[in-house]
Amino acid sequence: MRRTKIVATIGPSSRDLETLTRMVEAGMDVARLNFSHGNRDMHAENADLVRSAASAAGRQVAILQDLPGPKIRIGSLDDDIAELKPGEKLVLLCGDNTVGNGERMSVSWGGLASAVDPEDVIYLADGAIRLRVKNVRAGDGEVETAVEIGGAVSSRQGLNIPGSTRGLPAVPEEDLDMLRFGESIGVDLVALSFVRTAEDVTSVRRHTRLPLIAKIEKPQAVDSAEEIIRAADCVMVARGDLGIELPIEDVPIVQKQLLRTAGKLARPAITATQMLDSMVNSSRPTRAEVADVANAILDGTDAVMLSQETAIGAYPVGAVEMMASVAERVEHTVPYRTWNEERVRRDARDPAYTIAYGACAAARDLHLAALVVPTLSGRSARLISAHRPQVPIYALSPGKETVRRCSLMWGVQAGPMRRHEVTEALIADAARRVVELGWVKSGARVGITAGLPSGRPGTTSLFQIQRV
Ligand code: PEP
Repeated sequence: MRRTKIVATIGPSSRDLETLTRMVEAGMDVARLNFSHGNRDMHAENADLVRSAASAAGRQVAILQDLPGPKIRIGSLDDDIAELKPGEKLVLLCGDNTVGNGERMSVSWGGLASAVDPEDVIYLADGAIRLRVKNVRAGDGEVETAVEIGGAVSSRQGLNIPGSTRGLPAVPEEDLDMLRFGESIGVDLVALSFVRTAEDVTSVRRHTRLPLIAKIEKPQAVDSAEEIIRAADCVMVARGDLGIELPIEDVPIVQKQLLRTAGKLARPAITATQMLDSMVNSSRPTRAEVADVANAILDGTDAVMLSQETAIGAYPVGAVEMMASVAERVEHTVPYRTWNEERVRRDARDPAYTIAYGACAAARDLHLAALVVPTLSGRSARLISAHRPQVPIYALSPGKETVRRCSLMWGVQAGPMRRHEVTEALIADAARRVVELGWVKSGARVGITAGLPSGRPGTTSLFQIQRV
């Protein structure tokens, strides 16, 4: 059983039932709907397709809604493209709708002219083009820049101003509206882009009960990573924008730090962007990409993510298969004992941490076949997963949403069970269920966690070893 989870972005290359079913069979655990692109009808259709593919393949697949956040974009361009040459002048028209060209182009955010100062740097085209601010005419909403590094820029591409974001709303009103739409089409997880503070996460929490993934892609977010990760349910190392907003050579170090912090706080983590990028056009990845996926797993990521590879690439199924193979191979070599002992900062006031730690130690010492985790909210499964046991974690829940949310947790396979009010009945049913589902052979010895009183989230306090 593969432990590392695979997130795949749905796009033109993957939005048909046959391809999606093959992607689920190949190991896609979470389907990402990127709300920076496409329209709502398309996302609703994609969500339906994912659910049909999951049921055709007989696997649980969660749907992740990725909100654009306060992303700044340039407007439309003549012929949809402009070539910028070093030394040329480019004027940015803030909050304007003019169709632009290589000399003047509009920018979606009206506040840009008030947020930058002369000598600030602005990046276009995924960081490939560098502009230097020369003159700001805030009254006219114009920013005059000089092109330092040139290149081609396309209509509606993103614009990055590292650091400076004063006045940019943390969570735009459109994001909250998209979030309500996401809830209406039954998404399971929500990712927030360009988070800068923990308050950005908590402000969205007031609007939804869905688990929130904080995407770390701003330098300010790196500085406040621990508070942000604690405020969120999961974290994403969003290396695409991170590699523009920070010196690109900092990204591997930041990745390691973020994954270490996520482990310490027992929050699942996704490592994202360009993991198998060459597979957009090629049936085989580069050695460097395979090493990147392997190293993210060795750094402790819960999930690895495919973006363009499955959204617009020529080999969406092959990319998922490749990730699954790399993960399965690497998982034989991860330092389970050390992770079990050291990975999580255990909260001495909360017995659930001790139970999670003890369950993993028991699984190792007693050669248990699996850990069985009845869970209402998914929290017990998350804590056990964070301790990285060497055996499979089987989460059972009466909540359909909880079952799907476990799709992001390392090593957890989840399924449904009845709700119980009596702990003995809960344990007996859990032992029966894992055999019924074909997960554990009858007669095998497993560890089962439970809570007293059962039926209430956050009360896990019991661990029992038994034959099923
Ligand atoms: C990233 O920047 O790495 C990322 C995952 O975000 P997006 O794809 O939305 O730019």
